[in-house]
Amino acid sequence: MNAATPAGAAATLPASLRFIERDWLSSNQITGFDDDAAIVVDTGYDKHAALTVALVRRVLDEAGEAAGRPMRLAGIVNTHLHSDHCGGNHALSQAFGCQLTLPRARAEDGGDWARDALPLGITGQRCQRFRHAATLAPGDTLRLGGLDWRVLAAPGHDPKSLIFHCEREGLLIAADALWENGFGVIFPELDGQSGFAEQQAVLELIATLPVGLVLPGHGRMFGDVRGALERAFTRLDAMRADPRRHARHALKVLVKFLLLDLERVEAARLVEPVREAIALRRTAALLGMEFAAALDWAAGELVEQGQLRRDGPWLLNA
Ligand SMILES: [Zn+2]
Repeated sequence: MNAATPAGAAATLPASLRFIERDWLSSNQITGFDDDAAIVVDTGYDKHAALTVALVRRVLDEAGEAAGRPMRLAGIVNTHLHSDHCGGNHALSQAFGCQLTLPRARAEDGGDWARDALPLGITGQRCQRFRHAATLAPGDTLRLGGLDWRVLAAPGHDPKSLIFHCEREGLLIAADALWENGFGVIFPELDGQSGFAEQQAVLELIATLPVGLVLPGHGRMFGDVRGALERAFTRLDAMRADPRRHARHALKVLVKFLLLDLERVEAARLVEPVREAIALRRTAALLGMEFAAALDWAAGELVEQGQLRRDGPWLLNA
């Protein structure tokens, strides 16, 4: 923390960092400038890759104008390999000729990210192939925006996710471990693995850190870390008490994501684009529902909540 900002108080974003707020299909981007070289954290979803390139280019141009010299994108860092966080990796590395750093535990899995990586292959979501040059692991220090960030493990939402804490400025890049209102689906629990306990531990860890400003993977930046943690703990308690509630929530999140991506689909054919999506199938099975019926149920709930709408035979994103 700097001298004017005691631990826990609302901090402001240092001038060396830019926060690009996106939506729920694409993750946010955090760009840090160190001299004339920038690094971007997370790259959004495949569908928005061209927009992500344009947004990052604009941030580079603005910073370059302010500094009176050109800025270049030197690297990409991924907090975790979900398709809404790494979907722009290929496009950005092509556009800027920069190198890619992945969470080490995930990189060690090897394989073809576009096909195998969780949940790319299991949710029916898309991602262009990419190749990494370096890795980061818990305990490492990430240099971003001229600042040192401690790399922390954040299992729960994704077993191999990382988050980044800058103690000096009281900043936390929280990925999908903590949003202003909640956190990401706890994917391991949909697969019979432990995830709630890990998420609990991550939230407890965050509660011990001096943080005045959270830069989440989705949604706006926020300074009320205590309030966000309280909401997250309450939500997690409810999920642990009733895992079927979490499974229903996950099903709705995945169907909403599908409609954000496709924008419209014939309700009677909702099952087709996700036929191979193992996570969705497992979640339906967890709820004791037939697959197509489970998708119909989730779509119906989302229509009732105003998240989707029906138009004749069509189901549309609202
Ligand atoms: Zn995620």
